[in-house]
Amino acid sequence: MGKTLVVFDFDWSFVDQDTDRWVFEVLSTKLRRLLETRKSAGSQCTPDVVNDTMGDLAEEGFTKDQVLDALRILPFHPAMRRAVLGLRERNPNVEYLCLSNSNEVYISTILERHGLTDLFSNIITNPASWNSSNSNRLDIGRRVPANGPQHDCKVGCLANMCKGEELEAYISERGGRSSYEKIVYIGDGGNDFCPLLRMKEGDWALVRKNMELDARIKNEGEKEGLKVEVKKWSQAWQIDEYFQEL
Ligand SMILES: [Mg+2]
Ligand SMILES: [Zn+2]
Repeated sequence: MGKTLVVFDFDWSFVDQDTDRWVFEVLSTKLRRLLETRKSAGSQCTPDVVNDTMGDLAEEGFTKDQVLDALRILPFHPAMRRAVLGLRERNPNVEYLCLSNSNEVYISTILERHGLTDLFSNIITNPASWNSSNSNRLDIGRRVPANGPQHDCKVGCLANMCKGEELEAYISERGGRSSYEKIVYIGDGGNDFCPLLRMKEGDWALVRKNMELDARIKNEGEKEGLKVEVKKWSQAWQIDEYFQEL
């Protein structure tokens, strides 16, 4: 049996929340509003905006432990855990990849909390680390740094990461597309559209209903030549059902 690559977006796909927003929602209404205001101001890249607001959070006296505790109570559906562990047990040829616009600290904290640290063979996301002169300040960077060569995505990925290019690079480092019998991608967001365009007939896109990815597929899928088989889901138990067909 050939290998199956299962790719998870993280926010609203693997977990039932947006990690960036959640930390502020738990800790400070004022900073949650500030994040919103900065985002709707436009041109800034998401991790830059979150990074700026993390600076404000530390300045207001919130601690590293408070940030980590907020992440540990972020909603994660037990059926998602059952789905991924069950599939891995039934099919040892499954490889899990996380492709996310969140950051290293958020994702690793949440995975650790749920005993899933070793689930993903790789986590491709924005870099993050606690500041060396203020240990309560989380510094969040861009996956594609602003001061180097930029990606050349044509379908509208944010400057900090093109998930399509990341997926292609991951696959080519592992022997190319022929190393995998099937790719399954679980996503919800507008930036999950690009990697789906790099997949082929027989691959699956498990698309969360009524979210931005769902809308992009409806509006642009045919025009952009989307080839994958699209399957819809709302809750994690449905992912468990789909996984049972793999
Ligand atoms: Mg998402
Ligand atoms: Zn892209």
